[in-house]
Amino acid sequence: MDKIVALSKRRGFVFPSSEIYGGLASSYDYGHYGVLLKDNVKARWLEAMVRERDDIVALDSSIILHPRVWEASGHVSGFSDPLVDCRTCKQRFRADHLADPEHEEVRCGKRPSKRPGETPVCDLTEPRQFNLMFQTRVGAVEETGVDVYLRPETAQGIFINFKNVAQIARRKPPFGIAQVGKAFRNEITPGNFIFRTLEFEQMEMEYFVPPDEADEWYRYWVDERYRWHLRYGVRESHLRVRPHEAEELSHYSSGTSDIEYLFPIGWSELEGIANRGDFDLTQHAEFSGTKLEYVDTATGERYVPHVIEPAAGVGRTVLALLCDAYDEDDIGGEQRTVLRLAPHIAPIKVAVLPLVNKDGQPEKARAIYEQLRELWPTEYDAGGSIGKRYRRQDEIGTPWGVTVDGQTGEDRTVTLRDRDSLEQVRVPLDELGDELGRRLADPWRS
Ligand code: ATP
Repeated sequence: MDKIVALSKRRGFVFPSSEIYGGLASSYDYGHYGVLLKDNVKARWLEAMVRERDDIVALDSSIILHPRVWEASGHVSGFSDPLVDCRTCKQRFRADHLADPEHEEVRCGKRPSKRPGETPVCDLTEPRQFNLMFQTRVGAVEETGVDVYLRPETAQGIFINFKNVAQIARRKPPFGIAQVGKAFRNEITPGNFIFRTLEFEQMEMEYFVPPDEADEWYRYWVDERYRWHLRYGVRESHLRVRPHEAEELSHYSSGTSDIEYLFPIGWSELEGIANRGDFDLTQHAEFSGTKLEYVDTATGERYVPHVIEPAAGVGRTVLALLCDAYDEDDIGGEQRTVLRLAPHIAPIKVAVLPLVNKDGQPEKARAIYEQLRELWPTEYDAGGSIGKRYRRQDEIGTPWGVTVDGQTGEDRTVTLRDRDSLEQVRVPLDELGDELGRRLADPWRS
């Protein structure tokens, strides 16, 4: 993880937030390549959820919703962690993590670092419930304002729009509503980089189905989402589906599976898929007084659809992709670090480099760059030795490098370098676009 954190900072993927003020725990800012990578993750998700399908539509709901939404959803009363404070080291821990072997990383603040409660000076409080929702106030005047919450998940914005979408989009179950957006949780456990942050983006889809089809669609979505992660390069040996045990299930769920990735911190949740039954629509119907059901106007049939929810985090997906792609190898005795990102995920697809900064090479390279950037995210790089520039592109995961050299002026060919195989071939300039297009269209194998 330290290597991933260092590379992320060195190459401008992710910075610690508010760094010049000493940082803010569990908060990170995304730099240039981080933004491009994150945008690609979201685009691939929306592509698979909305663009390639006829049965799912998009939504972008508000971050601040009517406060009753969170009463209906159960978040006001139930969205909390049991916390324990240590009066000696002033650290705060999740009570349920203290004796859990899966959370070995939970350590007391005193040296030598042991599990909280294991040193003679540890002085732990009784567990207390701590609500994870951030509260704020709407209204300029303190006395007349209304307490509201920053949403801790995007899902509720979808449920409360069920009627709008079902009517306007003229959808009949099974159909889904997909949303990508920020969510906020007052997380108190140590962050593990971007794995767990105070604010993060979620990619959630609520799939509304006839009640008797719920089990079948639940299995379908577990499978579908597992395959999505594989499609973009995550190694199969690092990905698994873990069905929840009966005692782990939320009260409303009749089935939940986590898609887990083998992060450097161990197997951890990347995405959750839940069969939520009719809990959400029934709750919102009761709290709002609005009927939320499907009515077939032809047959008069009416029912409250059941919901299957695949919920993924953008930051966690980015972290899994970075961990999976990170590699170190040896080229002719020289160490290199390389991100073997799938081309559809890589922030930059092609780098165009003049071999030397003279003899008209920069001008020729720049002209090629101007053409390619119209097709794909492309970078022009003329600074430093050619080896250094390749190394830089390898570290940001650029799959292909195009080098203009002395021969280019003579026979209008360039060198095309492959990040992973390091193969270099000469390609006529006129065929470069087609060749890159062909390579991008090839199925990706990690
Ligand atoms: P965890 O058990 O790790 O806290 P969760 O089960 O509470 O996660 P969900 O409520 O199912 O998470 O949220 C769906 C997805 O949103 C998670 O699989 C994860 O990818 C992402 N996510 C949840 N909380 C955070 C967070 N604090 N930081 C980053 N991503 C998060």
